[in-house]
Amino acid sequence: MYSRSRNENGSSNTRCLYCFLTVASDVETAIELDRIEARHICPEKALAQLLLRGHSFEIQVQTK
Ligand SMILES: [Zn+2]
Repeated sequence: MYSRSRNENGSSNTRCLYCFLTVASDVETAIELDRIEARHICPEKALAQLLLRGHSFEIQVQTK
């Protein structure tokens, strides 16, 4: 999930909503924004998924 904002000169910035890191700034096109966002490896998102997996594993253990 990303938050995009537009600069006065028409270029855009994009910020990751998981780690609040500005992934890119002064990007000219939406295609470029898509490309940069796809390339972002988010530490916060990875951690959240890891915790989620750990949680579902706990549930599996308890129901056995
Ligand atoms: Zn991120």
